[in-house]
Amino acid sequence: MTKHTHSFQAEVAQLLHLVTHSLYSNKDIFLRELISNASDACDKLRFEALANPALYEDQPQLEIRISYDRDARTLTITDNGIGMSEQEAIEHLGTIAKSGTREFFSRLTGDQKQDAQLIGQFGVGFYSGFIVADRITVESRRAGLSSDAGVRWSSEGTGAFEVEPITREARGTSVILHLREDALEYASAWKIKEIVRKYADHISLPILLEKETWQEGKDGEPGRMVKTGEWETINQATALWTRPKKDITDEQYIAFYQQITHDFEPPLAWTHNRVEGSTEYIQLLYIPKHAPHDLWLRERKSGLKLYVKRVFIMDDAEALLPAYLRFIKGVVDSNDLPLNVSRELLQESRDVKAIREGNTRRVLALLEDLAAHDRLPEGEAAAALSDEDKAKAGKYTTFWSEFGAVLKEGLGEDLANRDRIAKLLRFASTQSDTPSVSLADYKARMKEGQEAIYYLTAESLAAAKNSPQLELFRKKGIEVLLMTDRVDEWAMNFLTEFEGTPLQSVARGEADLAKLQDEAEKKAVEEASTAFKPVLERLKTALGERVEDVRVSARLVDSPACLVVPEGGMSPQLARMLKAAGQ
Ligand code: ADP
Ligand code: MG
Repeated sequence: MTKHTHSFQAEVAQLLHLVTHSLYSNKDIFLRELISNASDACDKLRFEALANPALYEDQPQLEIRISYDRDARTLTITDNGIGMSEQEAIEHLGTIAKSGTREFFSRLTGDQKQDAQLIGQFGVGFYSGFIVADRITVESRRAGLSSDAGVRWSSEGTGAFEVEPITREARGTSVILHLREDALEYASAWKIKEIVRKYADHISLPILLEKETWQEGKDGEPGRMVKTGEWETINQATALWTRPKKDITDEQYIAFYQQITHDFEPPLAWTHNRVEGSTEYIQLLYIPKHAPHDLWLRERKSGLKLYVKRVFIMDDAEALLPAYLRFIKGVVDSNDLPLNVSRELLQESRDVKAIREGNTRRVLALLEDLAAHDRLPEGEAAAALSDEDKAKAGKYTTFWSEFGAVLKEGLGEDLANRDRIAKLLRFASTQSDTPSVSLADYKARMKEGQEAIYYLTAESLAAAKNSPQLELFRKKGIEVLLMTDRVDEWAMNFLTEFEGTPLQSVARGEADLAKLQDEAEKKAVEEASTAFKPVLERLKTALGERVEDVRVSARLVDSPACLVVPEGGMSPQLARMLKAAGQ
């Protein structure tokens, strides 16, 4: 039998150095990570077995077993999931592939204390085992391979690892941790149960722990705990989302979110429902606190996991949500879809369409609820508020600053919900530097005789505020919404009115400005137009093709001239965007 030594990928070596040298604060996370890997491995087996049931061999009951040996100072986590071939062990345990860990790397500061805290929050997968172990041995056999195709992987968590073939009857993987001197506390049923309850209760597989019993010492020897060979289940072993809401604590919802997203922050809010009727499914949808770095990438992954009757089917089930809600994370568990459903089938399924619409409605309802409680009322109304509602204060503001620009895409994408989305919009305006003005707020402040909601799109708030287009509106005390997201120009094409009031760009046409003028102003413009006719003609000749018309206008107060777009023409902001895009 040959034993081969391999070096870790450079990033792994770097990560291991960090894990072993600066992590003392939150040791417990190693068990969460290893249990989560065992659970993933069982999910993978279940999924592959849909097409090839023989993979179950004679062990269809998937489970995770934890045992320890105080004398040998080992803690072992065993699963009967998919397992690894020799090649897979080399690749998966010697390199870093997952994006969560890469993101972790991008956040490293070089400051040991800060970085250690970061690991505690993030978890770094398999390698976190080295927080408590000075050697890790992994023994595995991949489902479907024969017992002599087992592999033993072993490392001290420094630069290298060893791999050798072994014979292993049991399908799946055992991770054997050789505990460090200062981590012997983990060889204890009490400690293991505590961590499982905290981090892994929602795992849908049974997690079993070998039972111990007290044995009196014989012939004057001291008594000791001995293993009984019996196993007890130490978690609830039902998928979190299948449990009734009232039986799930906030801590459990948060732990589940963090497990499926690798987010180190708790979510902003969530909604959990069992939908009954012609399409039956469970939805557990979370809004994160922060936008991911790839929110604007076309190829980014969606955040929903699809299960069918508790069986994991796929990550990134993008068909379950419209693109403008791509920031949502969570789980959908359908009772109706076939187990062998593919991505292509998902696109066409009527059940999926019903689920997507149901998810959309729930997310919008959740946002409406947050928006309604964003500002704490004063006096008695505040006292009457439940603690739960009080805790919602400020959340919509956070949501909007992280995801508002994405939600705006919905104006163009989701006709059926356009009105609901319009109510969720928030803007800066000539009366508010922060994007906190809703269209309803604006309407409530409209002046006598004002017939439109006015807005201005610009590249920045500063540019918007300095625009000469605003002069007349300022003079008249009329509020103008200031829009500075790249998506605004496009999105506003789809929002021509709000509850019966038209939306009007201040950079367009002259027509309805007349309505804001009194008789004297109109007369002044007419007189000036006649008086300045020769000047206007000369300007028109000089500018030639570049302009359609040169006019005297009441639009300006301080500036001598400005550009406007003819009714139905392209706005300067949109023209700039198209130019930047090479059109
Ligand atoms: P992640 O779980 O996010 O992919 P990890 O560092 O936790 O990252 O694990 C790395 C990889 O090692 C996994 O993606 C998987 O391929 C493999 N692996 C780890 N533990 C197991 C296990 N118990 N059974 C099978 N494969 C495993
Ligand atoms: Mg993992």
